[in-house]
Amino acid sequence: MRIDILTALPRLLDSWFNESILERAQKKGLVEIKVHDLREHSTDKHHRLDDYAFGGGAGMVMMIEPIHRCISLLKAERAYDEVIYMSPDGQLLDQPLANRLSTHRNLIILCGHYKGVDERVREHLITREISIGNYVLSGGEIPAAVLTDAIIRLVPGVLNDETSALSDSFQDGLVAPPVYTRPADYNGWLVPDVLLSGHEAKIHTWRYERSVERTKARRPGMVEGEGE
Ligand code: SAH
Repeated sequence: MRIDILTALPRLLDSWFNESILERAQKKGLVEIKVHDLREHSTDKHHRLDDYAFGGGAGMVMMIEPIHRCISLLKAERAYDEVIYMSPDGQLLDQPLANRLSTHRNLIILCGHYKGVDERVREHLITREISIGNYVLSGGEIPAAVLTDAIIRLVPGVLNDETSALSDSFQDGLVAPPVYTRPADYNGWLVPDVLLSGHEAKIHTWRYERSVERTKARRPGMVEGEGE
């Protein structure tokens, strides 16, 4: 899988993708993440990416040309399944959406800045708009990093224990059960006996029951398989 991220602030993303699970995934050759500096695609001699909004009003708008040039160059090299724009009013990111996107081969993710991008980018170049929540951040880099992380950890082989993504919250319409590690007694705060029993079936039942209990308490609207 390959993900191309288009941004005005490439350095913001470098450290994110060069650590831990995401770095290992790239080293193993399972995913390729390329960060593109939109300024390199600006024809303006000052490499400007934004301009004043037609009709006036506060805030700058990202111009279409550098974005169009960058996307066109990429599309000339390979076919893309989706060209995604991170936007506060886009489709809300959830686990079923991350699951679907993780089955694709090539994705482009565009990060906005300032007031956002010229509407014609959204009309003509973008195939999907995704939001990470109903609040506004100052740029699309953190949203793009969140989306990329959610997708990449689902690519087979990226997590050491391949089944572990499947037991995460939301994968089966339930949130995850509590987890514990050593010591079994810390300050008199004890780990539930059943987890130390070695009885697999009982442990399985206990975990399932805790998941159901937590889902009812924390996500009462969530039902099994919702969103698929
Ligand atoms: N004026 C716009 C907000 C622009 S915020 C509006 O009111 O909708 C600047 C950029 O940050 C956006 O172009 C988008 O790429 C990104 N962004 C901000 N909040 C986001 C969110 N919740 N989800 C996804 N992207 C977001």
